[in-house]
Amino acid sequence: MNSLNIFLKNLDHNFYTIKSKLKNSTKLIGVVKANAYGSDSLIIAKRLESLGIDMIAVAYTSEGIYLKKNKIKIPILVFYPQLESIKELYKYRLEPAIYSKLIFKKFNELIEEKSCKKYPIHIKYNTGLNRIGFNSNETPWIIKSLNKSSLTLKSVYSHLSMSEEKKPSKISEKQIAVFKNIIENYKNKKNIKPFFHLLNSSGIFNYPDLELDAVRPGISLYGYANNFHWDKKLLPISSLTTKIFQIHKIKKGDSVGYNKGWFAKRNSKIGVIPIGHADGIPRSFGMQKGWFTIKNKKAYIIGNVCMDIIMIDITEINCKVGDEAILFGNNISAASIAENCNTISYELLSNISNRIPRNFIEN
Ligand SMILES: *Cc1c(COP(=O)(O)O)cnc(C)c1O
Repeated sequence: MNSLNIFLKNLDHNFYTIKSKLKNSTKLIGVVKANAYGSDSLIIAKRLESLGIDMIAVAYTSEGIYLKKNKIKIPILVFYPQLESIKELYKYRLEPAIYSKLIFKKFNELIEEKSCKKYPIHIKYNTGLNRIGFNSNETPWIIKSLNKSSLTLKSVYSHLSMSEEKKPSKISEKQIAVFKNIIENYKNKKNIKPFFHLLNSSGIFNYPDLELDAVRPGISLYGYANNFHWDKKLLPISSLTTKIFQIHKIKKGDSVGYNKGWFAKRNSKIGVIPIGHADGIPRSFGMQKGWFTIKNKKAYIIGNVCMDIIMIDITEINCKVGDEAILFGNNISAASIAENCNTISYELLSNISNRIPRNFIEN
């Protein structure tokens, strides 16, 4: 049986590791978007809430509604609310990141219509990633508009485009300078006293002097930080395991899989495992790029990854039907295997599909 085993104790470890790098007063905003990076957003959010996290963040409104409906009490920041979703966002008292004049106006209209006062919002700036956010020169408009609105500015933030890059990084330095200037523009304003934040996981490790008032760790809560040395301080919260369900002995020259993906260069033993691209194993893991670990040995994926099934080369591994094959887990880094297959830990983890049962280990 396949299983994504989730060790909640490892989440605790990562939480405390991150916390130990910060001042006591610095807030933690735990990012649980995309089903908590492919694990389970509700269980992770509950655990983070019980650890005393200040806030959690999701990407879209629907993700926040699911958590609110399931009784998550701490504030939930929505990073990328869409205009169509603002009514629902209000209904569930989610806190939007406001990133443009358009959404500012529409959201304020809605709040005034509801005769609501002091609804908390967050302002997101684009300082160089060129994804979403206000431009720094829109600050006077924002402050003026806030003053005559029913909204309360809770925080102001931006996002670095390459926080993991070795320092000194020209691009990061530039973004940091722009953000520091934005912070200055909010100083000494009556009735507007936001807190500020800039750092994601690798930023927390790379720019300890920029923790400001809060940080927004995502992937590091799950055990990775985009750098081999930083990863060592963390524990992967999940392991993905499957089991060999058939073994074939094939002759030199035989082909394996769809479209003759692999030819045996020698007489070989191949294992068949019940997991495929529909489970979230990218097709790019095929053709001996990716591997599973069996009895501490690498069994490379041969031929193409099928929808439900993968074949692996076990010629040199002493194993039998029913033996466990591990894709990633403790000491088997999802980041290294992802890198070998031209992707990143984020994509691998967040794509693990619903077909894989989640198995939670509390202690
Ligand atoms: C996803 C996200 C994060 C978390 O990033 P990690 O690299 O996973 O730590 C932080 N901030 C924003 C705006 C995000 O979209």
